[in-house]
Formats: sequence, C-alpha cells, structure tokens
Amino acid sequence: MEKKHAVIIGGSLGGLFTANLLRSIDWEVDVYERVADDLASRGAGIGTHDEMFKTLRRIGISIDETLGVKVSNRIFYDSNGKVIATAVLDRYMSSWARFYRPLKDLLPTSNYHFNKQFTHYTQSSNKITAHFNDHSAVDADLLIGADGIWSAVRNQMYPDTKPLYAGYVAWRGMVNEADIPKNLANEIFTKHTFCLPEGQYMITYPVPGANDDVRPGFRRCNFVWYHPLGLEKLSDICTDDQGKCHGISIPHHLIRADILSEMKATARSIFAPQIADIVDLVKQPFFQSIYDCIPPTITGDKIALVGDAAFLGRPHTGMGTTKAALDAEYLIDALLTSKGNLTEALTDYNQDRSRFGMRVVERGRWLGAHLSAHLTKPKDQRSPEELEHRTPEVSMREFGAHLSDIPELSAIARKH
Ligand SMILES: Cc1cc2nc3c(=O)[nH]c(=O)nc-3n(C[C@H](O)[C@H](O)[C@H](O)COP(=O)(O)OP(=O)(O)OC[C@H]3O[C@@H](n4cnc5c(N)ncnc54)[C@H](O)[C@@H]3O)c2cc1C
Repeated sequence: MEKKHAVIIGGSLGGLFTANLLRSIDWEVDVYERVADDLASRGAGIGTHDEMFKTLRRIGISIDETLGVKVSNRIFYDSNGKVIATAVLDRYMSSWARFYRPLKDLLPTSNYHFNKQFTHYTQSSNKITAHFNDHSAVDADLLIGADGIWSAVRNQMYPDTKPLYAGYVAWRGMVNEADIPKNLANEIFTKHTFCLPEGQYMITYPVPGANDDVRPGFRRCNFVWYHPLGLEKLSDICTDDQGKCHGISIPHHLIRADILSEMKATARSIFAPQIADIVDLVKQPFFQSIYDCIPPTITGDKIALVGDAAFLGRPHTGMGTTKAALDAEYLIDALLTSKGNLTEALTDYNQDRSRFGMRVVERGRWLGAHLSAHLTKPKDQRSPEELEHRTPEVSMREFGAHLSDIPELSAIARKH
C-alpha cells in the first residue's frame, strides 16, 4: 500500500516532533521551513518537563545528564538583594538547540527543506496542496501547521483569529558563566532566582553554553524579565536608529542603544543588585512580545495545527515545547487508534487537544494577570488574580511547575 504523505510547515521543535513520530508509524514526511539556513544558532534557554523527555525517548533519542543543567534551588530576592524565601524543585534547564539538533538529525536531509515559505493551501476531495512563495507546490494527504505564533496555516483557516498581545514583553539575554565575577557566580549561578517588584517578573537560571556544553565553567546564565509595555512604547522599542519601525519585533542587533541603556537602568532601579549585575553583563539583550491565542478549532479537512500554531499559551508555564511534543504524540496516537481513518483521528485530536490547549492558555493568563493589569487598570478595579497577591512561596511553586503538579493539565496530557 502506498504510504500516506504529510507536509509539515515549520521546521522548529513542533514540526520536528511531528515529523519523527509520523515516520515512526510509516508515513512519508516532508518539512518546509522558511528560514534559509540551520536554525541551531537560535539561542534561547528553555525550562523542560519530564513529559517531553518521554516523547523524545519514544522517538529514539536518549536522555541523559547532558540534556541540560539540573537546578534544584529556587531563591526569591527582594529589591535590595536580600533573600526572602527559598524552595526546592528539581528541573532541567536547557536550550532550544539541544533538542532541535537530535530531532533534525533523525530526519533524512532530503525531507527537510530550508528556505521554503508556505503561502497558502488549496484542497480537492482527495488531497491538500501546500503552496510556497517560490511558486512551487506539493501535494499531501495531511497538512500540519507547525508554523508557530503567526501561523500562516491557522491564518488561512481563521483569518479573524489573531494572537492577543498580553500587555508586556519579555526581555531576555544570556551571559557566559566564565564572564560572571566569582562572588556573583557563587551566589546565584546554579540557582533559579526570582525577583518580583510590583508589576514586574524577573527570573534567572543556568542553561547549557555554546554547543550545549553543560560542564561547570562553560555554561550560561539566562535571564527573562516580563515587563509591562503599552503599544506606543512597544512600537518605539521596535524602531531602529534610522527611524524604521519593524512592527511588533525587531532583529536583536537593531535594538537602539538608548533603549538598551534605559532597560538596564530600569533593571538597576527595581531589581536586586545581583540580578541587575547579570543584566548589565549581557552583551546583546533582546525582547519578545508576549501573546496568547485561542483558535476556534485546531483541525480542518486534512489539516492539523500543533505547538504554538495551535493554542498558544503565555510562557509562564515554561511548557511551550512540551505542549508541542504532546500535541504531536496525541496526533500520532489518534491516527493509530483510528486505524488510518483521518477524519476520525482529526476529530479526536481536535476535541482532546483543544481542551488541553485551552487550559494551558488559561493557566498562562492566570500567572500573568498582574502583569497585564499593571498599566491598564487602577488597583481598585483589579480582580484578585490581577492583584499581586501571591506570596514568594506560591510564585516559586507555580512558575514552571512540573506537569505532574498541575492536576488539571496532567490528567489530560496524553491520550488514554
Ligand atoms: C519569553 C519566552 C520564554 C519561553 N520559555 C520557554 C520554556 O522555558 N520552556 C518551553 O518549553 N517553552 C518556552 N517558550 C515557548 C517555546 O519557545 C515555544 O512554545 C516553542 O518554540 C513552540 O515551538 P513551535 O515549533 O510550535 O513553534 P516555533 O518554535 O515558533 O516554530 C515555528 C517555525 O515555523 C517557521 N515558519 C513560520 N511561518 C512559516 C511559513 N509561512 N513557512 C514556513 N515556515 C514557517 C518558523 O521560522 C519557525 O521555525 C518560551 C517562549 C517565550 C516567548
């Protein structure tokens, strides 16, 4: 029997999880990525979850202590640099590239196509066709939209569904362990630190260094600072020094020097000095605007959305890549259960993964409610979750919690 063929739009983690799992059930798969060259240089640090490791093992990727830096101790600073609470929670902090590389290496190079920007799809009764901006087209039995937050596949399915700006950005950056003064490194490097002055949310944690190096001395410290920003200021920080506004984001190297100085000065004025020192040491900080998105469905006729292209949660749950892995696994299990009946599998996938996706979005909104409300609502009009009512202990427990500690998510994480 002829193999079924899937075309996957987006060659990041969501696309690669899906591609490898579909191959494991004997589908032919082609991945199309708009970026022209290898994505492994994407440098972001990520928190991980055991559930993603299970998916990696199912694909045949071994998991050992090189997958990230194990962090057990959480510490909470006040703005003066005094530790006001501590907690213990084991987590592996890693990097996006650490998972991208082995997932991509498992795919034959002839099935991963760089520099192919999907523009739209067309359909007939027995196939779906993906079209690209070089005027090429390819037929498939199933089209997977793994093309992230601004998914072109989702946009064609639901032109009116747009990601919603949460009212804040995440400033991010990394500094080499070797470049951090000894005293400071001894105090914070191996820890997951928190500092939450009113309306702000700052964390730091260690991640692997260049080439995924996890040896002491070769790692990096990553910071993520959720910072409320109105739309006018967002457009200002997306404007380069030639006066060109790049929209809602800007290439890192084009962020104006005055914006970086202002950001560092603000960090110095509100955060613990230890954390402001880390921000100061970062040579090229960058920011991402925070959005979430709830599409009406995550499937169409011969179409499935996975990862951020499906439900997009705010990053406070630290589980975007895990959700992408679980979406991919569920889709494959639904195909197995339906014994190849695509319509039945997609109906099943849409029902269950929409429930999971909705709860991920809700949890992200709950964790970020006080940031969204900071610039937009006077205190006396805020709901309880919009007020900063959480204790340091609760903040440390809820941020990037293990999936197994979130019953409403763990109960429906996988197909039963
Ligand atoms: C501040 C911040 C912190 C985060 N921290 C964590 C964390 O600690 N842990 C965690 O698990 N997750 C974290 N995430 C989330 C995580 O980065 C995403 O959930 C994850 O990358 C989603 O993967 P994806 O493959 O669905 O989408 P993406 O990684 O966005 O990939 C989409 C791919 O599609 C390609 N593409 C887009 N359009 C087209 C097109 N038209 N044609 C062809 N290709 C296209 C893109 O180039 C890209 O490669 C964080 C996110 C942010 C913003």
